[in-house]
Amino acid sequence: MPRSLELYHFLGLLPEMLERGRPLIPTRVYKLPGGNEVLKEFYLAELKESTPSTPLINIRSLGQDRLEKLLQEHLEKLGCPVEFKTTMTDFSQLEDHVEAQIVKSGIDQDITETVKCKWMIGADGAKGSIRKQLGLQFSGETRGVEQRFVSGDLEVKNLSDEYWHVWGDPMTILVSLRATETPGTFHLIMGGEIDHEKAVSDREELAKAVKAGTHREDLEIGEPTWLYETTPNIRMTEKFSKGRVFLVGDACHAHPFFGAQGSNSGVQDAFNLAWKLALVEKGLAGPSLLSSYTAERVPVIAEVLKRTTSIHDKTQFMRNDGSGLAAWGRDGPLKMLGINYRWSSIVLDERNPYMENCPQDPYGVEAGDMVRAGDRAPDAPGLVPIEGGETSLFKIFGPTRHAVLLFAGRDSAEEVVRVLGKIKEYPADAVRSVVIYPRGALPEVIDDADMVVFDSEQHAFVDYCCSDDDLTVVIVRPDGVVGASRYFRAVFSALSM
Ligand SMILES: Cc1cc2nc3c(=O)[nH]c(=O)nc-3n(C[C@H](O)[C@H](O)[C@H](O)COP(=O)(O)OP(=O)(O)OC[C@H]3O[C@@H](n4cnc5c(N)ncnc54)[C@H](O)[C@@H]3O)c2cc1C
Repeated sequence: MPRSLELYHFLGLLPEMLERGRPLIPTRVYKLPGGNEVLKEFYLAELKESTPSTPLINIRSLGQDRLEKLLQEHLEKLGCPVEFKTTMTDFSQLEDHVEAQIVKSGIDQDITETVKCKWMIGADGAKGSIRKQLGLQFSGETRGVEQRFVSGDLEVKNLSDEYWHVWGDPMTILVSLRATETPGTFHLIMGGEIDHEKAVSDREELAKAVKAGTHREDLEIGEPTWLYETTPNIRMTEKFSKGRVFLVGDACHAHPFFGAQGSNSGVQDAFNLAWKLALVEKGLAGPSLLSSYTAERVPVIAEVLKRTTSIHDKTQFMRNDGSGLAAWGRDGPLKMLGINYRWSSIVLDERNPYMENCPQDPYGVEAGDMVRAGDRAPDAPGLVPIEGGETSLFKIFGPTRHAVLLFAGRDSAEEVVRVLGKIKEYPADAVRSVVIYPRGALPEVIDDADMVVFDSEQHAFVDYCCSDDDLTVVIVRPDGVVGASRYFRAVFSALSM
């Protein structure tokens, strides 16, 4: 989803992500019987032109095994290799640390070790034990066997790689074969009137079921690289941490997979938590900051579960006459660009203060709304540094530092100097100050700023709704979210971060 692509950009992974993934391909639904004639062709989400504020606007597809490999390679480059064949068997929380027992599978024998750490992150999936050991309820529902699906990657011959192919419906047999990034390999989702267990355990039964669902005897079904059956599990915990242990991803929320939000949400959990944990670990923030992880993510996840459940329910009403196909739609909020934390106690908006009794809409801020504290910070290209060249806000934001953007209007020189003086009190590796002048402003040399730029195309001033006259300060958190926005008139009051 586009918001996850932005996070991969901040992590320095985007070029490889784009290279290994592929753009969204059109979906073709076929008429039955026959299975060859196209009933409808559409994109799950309309392909859009990127905009200055949203350069990554379209969905991209990349299999999760490939994404995992990419993340592992990246971690390895940072000196943090993933240790496979290693199982955490137990842990205990002590006053100032966590002790975890791990077992490493060796060639001759297993080796048991105790790991002592200040914090622990449970990313052990929906079946993981950490949530259970914390005593957190996984509330929700598991759907009945009639909603089971077989899912996997497999080779299919005589089928175009350029489409996502769909036949049938859940009342009969639903077969979805999406061309993956590997030519000739398709991602299968199959449900309805099939023997799921047989299809998973017996390759011939699998091929038979695919042919029965597609009505295409000419399809040659090869060996799956992976295959399993799954029943929709719709659950979440009411908090995402307890003591020194945090949960991310499926360990604290399981989604029906229609909607493509599960893995994307997990990635965003981690991005929300990581910078907070880093600041606390470095002694730059108190541990109370960590409670904002649950406070910010729980309402977002509750909303995404509502949406994916609704999509899942709609898929049950798709019919092979072409009705109900809107259930395939993945546009709008599902792109996750509108996720916001406007209600969070750690964000501050003096221009548009958050009203306690306003309805929360954690998924609902569409691009175009006035940007507020708690929202995704938009990009702005065409920034020209005083020393020359060109940059953009997305090149300035980064996962290890807050960016303090000083939108310097004509009459704000004095305030700019004072705010920069205040920023200097914070460690340079945690905060970066950027003075942004409107197009055509007279250049000023400001020694205390980390960077001085001109907004040559006015995207930054317009998208952040800043005036050319006064100073507006916008603080962007390391996770690319607006943490604070303050409008300075003649009187400067203390900058709070
Ligand atoms: C068919 C299907 C299609 C999907 N499509 C999408 C999609 O398009 N987009 C999307 O966003 N999401 C999608 N999802 C959801 C996505 O797969 C999950 O949300 C995601 O895999 C969760 O990642 P995770 O790392 O939290 O957990 P997992 O992927 O479950 O990983 C947990 C890991 O922890 C390990 N582990 C568990 N216990 C221990 C232990 N004690 N010690 C050591 N290791 C342990 C496990 O072996 C596993 O490797 C789909 C899901 C399905 C089933």
